[in-house]
Amino acid sequence: MTASKVIVITGASSGIGEASAKLLAAKGNKVVLGARREEKLKQIVEEIKADNGEALYQLTDVTDSEDVEKLVKLAVDTFGRIDVLINSAGIMPHSPLKDKRINDWDQMIDINIKGTLYGIGAALSYMNEQKAGQIINISSVAGHYAHAGGAVYSATKWAVRAISESLREEVAQDGSNIRVTIVSPGAINTELLSSVTDPKLKKNYQQFYDSFGISVDRVATTIQQAIDLPADAAWNEIIIRPTKQVQ
Ligand code: NDP
Repeated sequence: MTASKVIVITGASSGIGEASAKLLAAKGNKVVLGARREEKLKQIVEEIKADNGEALYQLTDVTDSEDVEKLVKLAVDTFGRIDVLINSAGIMPHSPLKDKRINDWDQMIDINIKGTLYGIGAALSYMNEQKAGQIINISSVAGHYAHAGGAVYSATKWAVRAISESLREEVAQDGSNIRVTIVSPGAINTELLSSVTDPKLKKNYQQFYDSFGISVDRVATTIQQAIDLPADAAWNEIIIRPTKQVQ
């Protein structure tokens, strides 16, 4: 078994964040969970503890940089370090640009891009001091391909990849021994579609996910494997798609 790590996860109240938290805790890691829905976080922490795992949570809105700083500090204050940050918080309210859903655009930029940046900002100083760490950012296949209706979401996920690659070069130049991993999933069955408010697009996406979507456990396993790689090697980018998904 690999050594126990301290792992902070945003967007931990459902989907990829929740599944990763449960799997990583079951493997003996200490997980610190952040999201906005307290009931969900409480229940996940209770489940992990009932399974003899170590977990705690803090209410966190990733659009608030202070919240994210506090989440990371909670991990360091409690366990003395932060080994891994998983930036999983995200939303996907697709719509055509002509609909001018400016609030949705702003939310996606604030959560998907700024939330990821705030996480990096919060974790990096500790990881630099430790001269070790790993930052895992969740992008998407939509960060590689853009389609009608997904302009802003794709732009945010492209941004996550650009930020991650710049970060990778910076920490490599610094010799700080910090690993950077981008995980770009395809159609994964989670609560993500609940953030799609356009009724026509939502129906189309629901049909697509019903046909192709795979279990969120596949992504959790991928993340666990990326963490468990020896420290002198990093998976810098992973696309994990359903085998039958065309694009
Ligand atoms: P879910 O909707 O199941 O999970 C999203 C998580 O983000 C929830 O825990 C939610 O918690 C959290 N979240 C949303 N807004 C905020 C916020 N302002 N502050 C803190 N947390 C927030 O979807 P997924 O697990 O699928 O999504 C996780 C990531 O994976 C996202 O970045 C998504 O874009 C990406 N992704 C997902 C794919 C899929 O097919 N499922 C495909 C490609 C990428 P709460 O509401 O409690 O705050």
